[in-house]
Amino acid sequence: MLKDRIIGSYQGSEKGPLLLVLGSIHGNEPAGTRALQELFAMLKAEPRKNPGFSFRGKLIGIRGNLRAIEQKKRFIDKDLNRQWTPENINRVTSAPVSTLDSEDQELRELIDCITSEIADYQPEEIILLDLHTTTAYGGIFTVVSDDARSINIGLAVHAPVIKGLLKGISGTSLHYFTTENFGISTTALCFESGQHNEPMAITRAVSALVNFLRATECVKPEDVEHRHDLLLKKHTENLPAISELITVHAIRQGDNFIMQPGYTNFQKVKKGTLLATDKNGNILMPSDGMILMPLYQPQGDDGFFIIKEVKSWSAERKKATP
Ligand SMILES: [Zn+2]
Repeated sequence: MLKDRIIGSYQGSEKGPLLLVLGSIHGNEPAGTRALQELFAMLKAEPRKNPGFSFRGKLIGIRGNLRAIEQKKRFIDKDLNRQWTPENINRVTSAPVSTLDSEDQELRELIDCITSEIADYQPEEIILLDLHTTTAYGGIFTVVSDDARSINIGLAVHAPVIKGLLKGISGTSLHYFTTENFGISTTALCFESGQHNEPMAITRAVSALVNFLRATECVKPEDVEHRHDLLLKKHTENLPAISELITVHAIRQGDNFIMQPGYTNFQKVKKGTLLATDKNGNILMPSDGMILMPLYQPQGDDGFFIIKEVKSWSAERKKATP
């Protein structure tokens, strides 16, 4: 299993951060893995095309949920991106393997893999990028862990940044990849590149990865082609630079949650509009805002997120980038 876990690895001649990039932590989201495969092919070809190219640090691409990827499902027993709590990681790394369910084993293998990469490279900084796609169409975005480094890297990727999302959920990879948990300066963010099966979700994730390498100073700005910025900016033209979470609709087992059809990421919705139904009746928009990640697949714990623009940030940003 461990052999398939690593998508690729690239180490520069100059010591720098350890970049851990996760693809397909949800098994029905192939775009992140495909984008990483393309990125490693580009990195391999780059020194021949561009003799001045250099790389600082080490990049590792990691497959998230191998068992779910095989079955093209979000997960087998439970959502792997809700299992990253210190207590749960203690449990899965110390219990006999025979007692672990599918995602427990995935989590244990991921922790083993990441621990050995850290021991091997001995980095002074770790940066995690977790690649995802959504069931809905509409804008792409970056989810940040709200510390300044995460927000700044998110902005430099050139896709809308969503703050505060981690308050609405728990146990995601972003919750776990912190300086406190690793004892090394650690930053995490996640990039959502589009709808699960759009071919462009791969192209956009490649551009976000290239911009991520520039934002973390692993590659020089002059070695990055403008097309990556253009592609991401074109797709996010009228979207706010930074938004924050207002609320998330959690689904409990047996709720029979059904999202009304046709909602897209960043769609503006007025208070009182019908969003979904469940066993208790209609679920209405609780305030004016924008919809994010409306759920159009059977597996998933969150029905939808509601966000609003952080206006002061957008004004600052517009001043900075005429
Ligand atoms: Zn996902």
